[in-house]
Amino acid sequence: MKRRDFIKTAGITSLATGSSVMASAVRADEKIKWKMVTTWPKNFPGLGTGANNLASLITEMSGGRITVKVYGAKELVPAFEVFDAVSRGTAQMGHGASYYWKGKTEAAQFFSAVPFGMTAQEMNAWLYHGNGMNLWTETYKPFGIIPAAGGNTGVQMAGWFNREIKSISDLQGLKMRIPGLGGEVLKRAGGTPLSIPGGEIFTSLKTGVIDATEWVGPYNDLAFGLHKAAKYYYYPGWHEPGTTLEVLINEKAYNDLPKDLQSIVSNACKVANQDMLAEYTARNQIALDTLVNQHKVDLRKLPDEVLIKLKSLSEEVIAEVAEKDPLSKKVFQSFTKFSQQVKNWHDVSERVYLNIR
Ligand code: CA
Repeated sequence: MKRRDFIKTAGITSLATGSSVMASAVRADEKIKWKMVTTWPKNFPGLGTGANNLASLITEMSGGRITVKVYGAKELVPAFEVFDAVSRGTAQMGHGASYYWKGKTEAAQFFSAVPFGMTAQEMNAWLYHGNGMNLWTETYKPFGIIPAAGGNTGVQMAGWFNREIKSISDLQGLKMRIPGLGGEVLKRAGGTPLSIPGGEIFTSLKTGVIDATEWVGPYNDLAFGLHKAAKYYYYPGWHEPGTTLEVLINEKAYNDLPKDLQSIVSNACKVANQDMLAEYTARNQIALDTLVNQHKVDLRKLPDEVLIKLKSLSEEVIAEVAEKDPLSKKVFQSFTKFSQQVKNWHDVSERVYLNIR
């Protein structure tokens, strides 16, 4: 019905103006060239290649009507200027993680990872079939940016440490690279969180600028060689239980596209989102085996006592973020309500099944 209406409207436009069939600033036969800036090192496994994959999909699906050139961090703009670059239209697209932009808008943090929050499967359910995507769109609207989910890492690792973590007091005084809400929780536990772009983590850890770091998981951590800079590798990634990577799209550039290309861009993001999770799920254990068996990494689980304390600190931190502004509160309320609903379902499905298989 909608499609028929659209065709009808487009036909009228064509008759009335005698020019463009599509009510957009771009002609149907025009070749569009977009730039995508990213917060990742160029071609970095999973993240950078995920952005490349998205760019290729858009070109293929559009039959070459749009080409997207991907830039690694620092090639066009530094990692943490990706948001501004897309906002002002220096690039039409960006690929990053929304917790990097908490300085722009606090509510952004809920769309990447919430400590002890939802898994990848649950995040996608909230974004696509809860109210998540609408709220994310509302959050970025003042910046002229349209967001999309553009990848997911699944549950991450707790990170790399040079000291054993036996109790919560072992986090005191710890300078750790850990962005977003997880970083706020570390601060509450007496540590000092730093947000450092991926490409600078290894050197920061090796030279003692930081004492510890989290990055992603075995597949990505092995690629950075983090095992050469720290002794202990802890799990689980309580702070990032299913991190959504994001695609940023300049609103004007998107609105200038004909409807079919808009749909191609949006749906290519959905494909890239799903494919990245599949890649991490496929490759993480192979990389973990390499880390443990070849590089003799000391793999440890965080003690339950530490996790329980971190969980209670997380609840405090998240509740406080919700009080910072009305939008954060609205997002928090939607996130928490959906989390509880999906948790109840997963308590009788995924959880029971994973424990028994
Ligand atoms: Ca991480």
